[in-house]
Amino acid sequence: MIEVELPAVLQAGACTCAECKDACMRKPGWFLPQQIEPLAEAMRLTVQELFNRHLQVDWFENLPPDHDVVYVLSPRLLSERGGAMFPGDPTGECAWYNGGRCAVHKLGKPAECQMLGHPFIKGRHPAVARAWLPFQGWIAELLGRQPEMSEYKPPRALFRDSLVRRLIGGT
Ligand code: SF4
Repeated sequence: MIEVELPAVLQAGACTCAECKDACMRKPGWFLPQQIEPLAEAMRLTVQELFNRHLQVDWFENLPPDHDVVYVLSPRLLSERGGAMFPGDPTGECAWYNGGRCAVHKLGKPAECQMLGHPFIKGRHPAVARAWLPFQGWIAELLGRQPEMSEYKPPRALFRDSLVRRLIGGT
């Protein structure tokens, strides 16, 4: 089912460096679609179990020439649960970043994480998003509904919203 080719540089356990570690604490990198099944297999999980426990749906807006939004799979944020959409502020530490190491480094970390720090791979973010175009239905199946991006909200706005919810007796 998955037909996108991985460049030769994208091998499991390709590299480690300070830039990568910094990125792990800012936002997880995105997978290419063909990485999901092998990773689930390596972790002895079904794809659905992998998604429910460890992944979230992120998105890329305004992909040229005419795609408003493309949904992609990413490791979940440490602060979020798996099997869900990314929040309005889709940043934060990757849940697989543990003691300065990547827990899936040898099992098959996301293509974007493997590409980081390789300057010859330009435009990786839109390229990885484009690879997900044929798999939007698969993401909806895993999520159990059509994915829907959240309005972007920086951390201060999220904090304010959560405070308001608490004050009015919400969750
Ligand atoms: S998957 Fe690994 S390399 Fe990628 S952001 Fe998470 S901890 Fe870092």
